[in-house]
Amino acid sequence: MKRIGVLTSGGDAPGMNAAVRSVVRTGLNLGAELLAIYEGYQGMVDGGDQIRPIGWNEVGGILYQGGTIIGTARSPEFRERSGRLKAAQNLIKNKIDRLVIIGGDGSLTGADVLRQEWSGLLEELVEDGQISPAEAERHQQLTIAGLPGSIDNDLLGTDISIGADTALHRITDAIDALTSTAASHQRAFVVEVMGRNCGYLALMGALASGADWVLIPESPPDLDEWEEKMCQVLRQGREIGRRDSIVVVAEGARDRHGNLITCDYVKQVLEERLQEDARVTILGHVQRGGSPSVFDRNLSTLLGEMAVKTVLDDDEAGKSYLIAMQNNNIVRVDLADCLKRTRQMAAAIEGNDYKRAMELRGSSFRSAFRVMRTMVRTQPHAREAGQRVLRLAVVHGGAPAPGMNTAVRVAVRLGLDKGHTMMGVYNGFQGLINNDIQEFNWMSVSGWAPLGGSELGTNRHIPGGSDLYAIARNLEEWKIDGLLVVGGWAAYQAAQVLYNQRKNYPVFDIPIICLPATIDNDLPGSELSVGADTALNSIMDAVDKIKQSAVASRRVFVVEVMGRRCGYLALMSALATGAERVYMHEEGVALTDMVEDVNQLTAGFKEGKRLGLIIRSEGANQTYSTDFMTSLFREEAGDLFDVRQAVLGHLQQGGNPKPFDRNLATRLATDCISTLEERILAGQKESACIGLMGGKVTYTDFDDLPRLMDLENDRPKQQWWLDLRPIARVLAQPGPGTAPV
Ligand code: ADP
Repeated sequence: MKRIGVLTSGGDAPGMNAAVRSVVRTGLNLGAELLAIYEGYQGMVDGGDQIRPIGWNEVGGILYQGGTIIGTARSPEFRERSGRLKAAQNLIKNKIDRLVIIGGDGSLTGADVLRQEWSGLLEELVEDGQISPAEAERHQQLTIAGLPGSIDNDLLGTDISIGADTALHRITDAIDALTSTAASHQRAFVVEVMGRNCGYLALMGALASGADWVLIPESPPDLDEWEEKMCQVLRQGREIGRRDSIVVVAEGARDRHGNLITCDYVKQVLEERLQEDARVTILGHVQRGGSPSVFDRNLSTLLGEMAVKTVLDDDEAGKSYLIAMQNNNIVRVDLADCLKRTRQMAAAIEGNDYKRAMELRGSSFRSAFRVMRTMVRTQPHAREAGQRVLRLAVVHGGAPAPGMNTAVRVAVRLGLDKGHTMMGVYNGFQGLINNDIQEFNWMSVSGWAPLGGSELGTNRHIPGGSDLYAIARNLEEWKIDGLLVVGGWAAYQAAQVLYNQRKNYPVFDIPIICLPATIDNDLPGSELSVGADTALNSIMDAVDKIKQSAVASRRVFVVEVMGRRCGYLALMSALATGAERVYMHEEGVALTDMVEDVNQLTAGFKEGKRLGLIIRSEGANQTYSTDFMTSLFREEAGDLFDVRQAVLGHLQQGGNPKPFDRNLATRLATDCISTLEERILAGQKESACIGLMGGKVTYTDFDDLPRLMDLENDRPKQQWWLDLRPIARVLAQPGPGTAPV
């Protein structure tokens, strides 16, 4: 029997519980024995009942909880070889030679040290008679899978670590709230966020919330007189009508000489030089706390699964890996190498080598920083002499998706900053027909970053017939050189109508770029669309509440989510909430499935199950509707359990965009503006859709769209997330006896 020890260590991070649940259940499902090591390395050193078997049901009902149910600690003893000797002895006594460790760089360094010392430690234990030679022989090699658990996102080797997305939720919520109070009083706020050696939270939080200045450890302000530069921008901001000034400071922010920049210092500078009332808010541990976001729950779940498969693989015995997310894929990478690079980063900052620090952070980080520097400007850069000024328009299409406004804000400001003329089209393609178009300036999009809905307005109208003539006339009148279309499938279709009619209307023969923005995530050419993450979090919040409401009452809930014929929202929300059954159009719904579900539910409730959760995608099946399913289950349940339905409806399209959507919108809109500019200046007329594929920005030509789409069902033929069905199914299976979730 293979035995796996699982522990959480160092600073806690929201999502650690989802990782523990995934490790335990994946391991048990693969036939391993799982032991939890409580209170991090201290539990490993102390042994006894700090190391004990953990079962399927013990990790039920923890997905929504922040922190870690198996505890975490900092263990000075484990830092010493003597402590690790005790830890090794306890592992051997518990027959553990495979470890999954969820923690930050400190914890993972400790793990790698333990692995390197392992054979020496065992020799010493044998010599001292603490373990038998046979025991040492049986556990010659220690295999380690480390999961990056750190809200700071400071580990190199993974694009993102467990807890960072949730921390960004806390940060953007806080800055959004401070922005409204700051605007009311025309005040300045200095906000400190976590991150000693890593400006990720500060930068992404500031960019997502439309803050006015950011200070990070990796790239201190250029000038010795940075204070004056900051004040100048904030002063000019007031002059052009900004009512709030928000400065975001990373905990480890520093100047070019390596001196820490504290919030109090920034406040003093603002008060002295701007004569403004400035307030400091240190977000502190709030950033660590609370229920994990959908992204963190699902990231943890997938990393946990890969970790277990890695430590159970005999070919990997004696190695240590970081289980990481790279380019939207779960991969395993050499742990020692990641730790080495993480140390290099810290050394670069410590040694004031900021060029190196920014290099190590990677291109997305550098690009985000560049965009941030542009967005905080109070006016665009001056045009270059003789430059060609392009006229670019932005239009929406399809249903509203949270993050649309963020995309428009970024596109407009970056376009203006490149010296171009930017126009906003109101009310979707209907606005192009009705000439509902306005030239935008820098402040036209002020305050749009955090706004849900669509300030420009959007609808599903797809032009045809006489519409085309009207659109042609308006494009001509406004001399539009290129069009950015932000929206869902209706937007893509509308754009293709213009593209296909370019022979008849030469004015349509301009580059058109579509940016995916729909909560359904059902567009070709992109693994993710803007708005889907916000919708998933709305679903998750609702389902968490529904589950709580049902705890004592032996109830089954059938929750209907949006998505039309695309099951993305259904599957990903099921993965994040532990729903035991998902119905979606891709798999179809058969009567026999429902009968099987009834049988399983009946058996479960007879054994003491208290709650059942089924998520049904709205377009799963026309005949077997949510009403039908609920009635069927209710009829069959008799007195054994109660069945209720919850149709979540439009709350899924609303709400302010979550940081993931804001940052995705920013990244895509940034690239769209550069690409439109490049294509127009090069005389190219190709139209395309931008997207993220394998985590990288890519473009798909309009001509390829029909080939990629399942046109009967309005969804892409290939949907990467369908591969996640097995893990969703396995983890939500009922354990012996009680509740599955
Ligand atoms: P984090 O994992 O969040 O970075 P810490 O740096 O506090 O948190 O590390 C957590 C624990 O990992 C420490 O208390 C210690 O037990 C262990 N640890 C950290 N660094 C080392 C090291 N270099 N060698 C051995 N153990 C270490």
